[in-house]
Amino acid sequence: MEQKCVFCAIVNKQIPASIIYEDEKVLAFLDINPLTEGHTLVIPKNHAENIFDISEENLKHISIVAQKIANKMKEVMHAEGVNLIQASGQAADQQVSHFHLHIIPRKNTDQLGLHEYWISKIQKAEPDKLSELAEKLRIEKIEEVTKEEDKPKERERSKEEIFWIKRRMQLT
Ligand code: ZN
Repeated sequence: MEQKCVFCAIVNKQIPASIIYEDEKVLAFLDINPLTEGHTLVIPKNHAENIFDISEENLKHISIVAQKIANKMKEVMHAEGVNLIQASGQAADQQVSHFHLHIIPRKNTDQLGLHEYWISKIQKAEPDKLSELAEKLRIEKIEEVTKEEDKPKERERSKEEIFWIKRRMQLT
């Protein structure tokens, strides 16, 4: 436990929270300043600051818990979508220095405007620069994740997906 860490204090039940999931590794609770109703945070119980130092095991576990919570939001709140947002580091606007994954339930009518914000900020990228950067960033294949069951399944894209893919291509 880190001194003065507000999320460690929640883990240790020194600060109350509206907990929706708890096990040995992970805690999920409602954000007290929600962007939409049901906005949830999933955190590891062991203090890790961000994506750079959280254990693989905890990160995997958080992903699984996030999926269950997203499904539950769909089921009981009739969420029509969710955003998963994670900020690592001050430059990325991380406010609490204990890893947390935001799960933000969305409705078609909620007017949160994330996409409008996104569109207002996107830049044009030079194809040559993209190739150069991809070369620099490329990482080795992770054997563990390429098991048969984990391979992405072929599926048809919906009309809406095609619309957004085309729109993105026009914008870049
Ligand atoms: Zn902490």
